[in-house]
Amino acid sequence: MSRFMSSRFDSLEEYVPGEQPRDRKYIKLNTNESPYPPSDGVLKAVSSGESELLNLYPDPTAKELKEKLAQRYELKPENVFVSNGSDETLSFAFMAFCDKNHGVAFADITYGFYEVYAALYGIDAKVIPLNDALGINPDDYIGLDRMIVIANPNAPTGRVISLNDIARIAESNPKNIVLIDEAYVDFGAESCLCLLSKYKNLLIVRTYSKSRSLAGARVGFALGDAEVISDLEKIKYSTNPYNMNRLTLVAASRAIDDDSYYFGNAEMIADTRKFTACELKKLGFEMTDSYANFIFVEHKDFSGEMLYSELKKRGILIRHLSKERIRNFNRITIGTKEEMCALIDALKDIMQVKES
Ligand SMILES: *Cc1c(COP(=O)(O)O)cnc(C)c1O
Repeated sequence: MSRFMSSRFDSLEEYVPGEQPRDRKYIKLNTNESPYPPSDGVLKAVSSGESELLNLYPDPTAKELKEKLAQRYELKPENVFVSNGSDETLSFAFMAFCDKNHGVAFADITYGFYEVYAALYGIDAKVIPLNDALGINPDDYIGLDRMIVIANPNAPTGRVISLNDIARIAESNPKNIVLIDEAYVDFGAESCLCLLSKYKNLLIVRTYSKSRSLAGARVGFALGDAEVISDLEKIKYSTNPYNMNRLTLVAASRAIDDDSYYFGNAEMIADTRKFTACELKKLGFEMTDSYANFIFVEHKDFSGEMLYSELKKRGILIRHLSKERIRNFNRITIGTKEEMCALIDALKDIMQVKES
């Protein structure tokens, strides 16, 4: 840190993204990207005339994209916020709805960025431990006088909570935003979209990075009450009005038209998840019941860290998180069936399992 950096960041620990090494070609099962390319329509849209307009600012209102998302989810454009990845929406939400006296609550094992945003903005964070099975106990979130942030499905566990529980939590915290991060909802979980009209304090955050093959384009959005959305707009216009670039705007708009392609891919990934889970159980792995495009596994005879580094040597990247409670676990993104077979073979090699 230079001597110029504000001392208020002295204890800030930044978010560490999954590694993206360039030294060789890896099978990448570490950052929950889609193994499938964007749809043909998206590829065409970004290579069309739009790039010739890059000398001009993009539409700061993202009118077309918002209208399409609104139509897609049977809402009005005023109920839609769009952002440069969903991380940006999360950042804006922490900025907008919390402060020194108005805290936030989230699980001890969840998306790592929540605690980073809380620290960045000096927000008091109540960290609520998951239960022994690494699940959320919904009762822990009833009547908290704070913003509540829950990833559903949760990351890195992949476990879900029911809409009934989300409704109870929203009902019991009427003065606070209840933010449900649905980054992984398309892989088999149920969205709480149907609760939006009933709970004005509910804010749903989604991303096109996982199920829509657009991690590199950076597309996130939020759905919620019009007043809540306009609060996010206020923060956006005070931070970065042109947060969505031209190419991203056309890619995202076009991706909505190609929903059936992406749903097909999400279904394949859910099938491959079942296959992989089944094969890894045969090798003695234990895992949480995941509804996401990853599985969260541990083996009582082999350390998570060793498996991670031995796989890396064999050209396969998975995510090892260092948090004490989950140190023996690894999070493995579900790729194509071929990639998962390569993973299973490499694990057999590391564990010296004899083929029968
Ligand atoms: C990946 C992820 C995000 C961030 O997605 P981007 O849109 O790529 O910024 C947000 N929340 C959770 C739970 C995630 O896993």
